[in-house]
Amino acid sequence: MQKQILLLGGSSEAFTLAQTLEQHPRFKVISSLAGRTSLPRKPVGKYRTGGFGGLDGLISYLQTNSIEAIIDATHPFASKMSQTANQAALTTNIPILHLWRPAWQKKPDDNWIEVNTMQEAATALKTDHSPAFLTIGRLELAPFLSRPDLDFLVRAIEPPKKSEQKTQLTPQGQEQDWPENFTFIYAKGPFCYEQEQSLIQKHNIKTIVTKNSGGPAAYAKLDVARALKLPVIMVNRPPKPNGPTVATPDEAITWLEKTL
Ligand code: NAP
Repeated sequence: MQKQILLLGGSSEAFTLAQTLEQHPRFKVISSLAGRTSLPRKPVGKYRTGGFGGLDGLISYLQTNSIEAIIDATHPFASKMSQTANQAALTTNIPILHLWRPAWQKKPDDNWIEVNTMQEAATALKTDHSPAFLTIGRLELAPFLSRPDLDFLVRAIEPPKKSEQKTQLTPQGQEQDWPENFTFIYAKGPFCYEQEQSLIQKHNIKTIVTKNSGGPAAYAKLDVARALKLPVIMVNRPPKPNGPTVATPDEAITWLEKTL
């Protein structure tokens, strides 16, 4: 009898793991996507889309679908989902593993200004950091509205809406077009060195703002920043989720084989 695994996705490692699990004789997998993007990459095998409806919704989903283990392979910044998954696992006594890719490490010639929140990132920018390249997605741009003194090049997968910003605007619920100091481009990684270099030089970028996502897909811009001696405002990760954690899909398979 195959064991049913819930794979909380959103990272490239989740796609790799879904592919491997689909071939595994002992496990069957349902991947779960948050549904943030309108044309998401689809995982191999069965998948569902959309939030569960908080802790109660997830508990109910786990029970209804006879889930026997949870692999949390969400993005390292998706801390709300990881915490909810931990609480649901504890309540239902279902084992959980976090697949948490290693963070990028600063190299000797890097000029990183490390901060802990997007608000701190907006504050850390100096006037001569303009134009700044915001490679932070589309949901956490609100803090940069407080910097009309700077120009921003925002790269996102799809256009942002002010109403979906994770950080509330002041006054709350304010709805207006993005100011003229924001320029948007739309693209999905991975990005190679040549692409990043050409974009950064074309827009005469003076600094890069990024989350410390880890992994190879978004790393090339940091190589370019080092080569061009550009400062990088690096937003550190939220704390690691509690519970067993591995760094690679292969280690997650080993954990499942031992645990179930
Ligand atoms: P989050 O703040 O941790 O989660 C917000 C809510 O979105 C959760 O409470 C949950 O809704 C729903 N959700 C998140 N991940 C889900 C999943 N895999 N399946 C079903 N529902 C999910 O997450 P986020 O930062 O908005 O990220 C959303 C998704 O995008 C995640 O899957 C993440 O892996 C991916 N992603 C995030 C980032 C980033 O920088 N944050 C970057 C790349 C990809 P309910 O409470 O209703 O269940």
